[in-house]
Amino acid sequence: MADYHRCEYCGDQFSSIIELNIHKAGNHASKEAENMRYPCKRCGEVLSSPREVAEHMKTDHPEAVRWINFFWWVITIATILFVLWKYLT
Ligand SMILES: [Zn+2]
Ligand SMILES: [Zn+2]
Repeated sequence: MADYHRCEYCGDQFSSIIELNIHKAGNHASKEAENMRYPCKRCGEVLSSPREVAEHMKTDHPEAVRWINFFWWVITIATILFVLWKYLT
């Protein structure tokens, strides 16, 4: 069997991706749900934790991270200005 699909949870092998998906839905549904929890909003890649999503963003979408940093910087400055304005008036 040259072209087989291996279950990444228990190592069972299947001749088609459909059989594998049925097997995973039946035997590892909770693990699948866990894995589906953190998809990358930019490319749809699914990661297993928010930390991994952050790492993925840094390596695969550095321009997005730069934009988010800029966004947070603007919010921080705006908050400081707002607090100063409230304090002075
Ligand atoms: Zn399995
Ligand atoms: Zn991505």
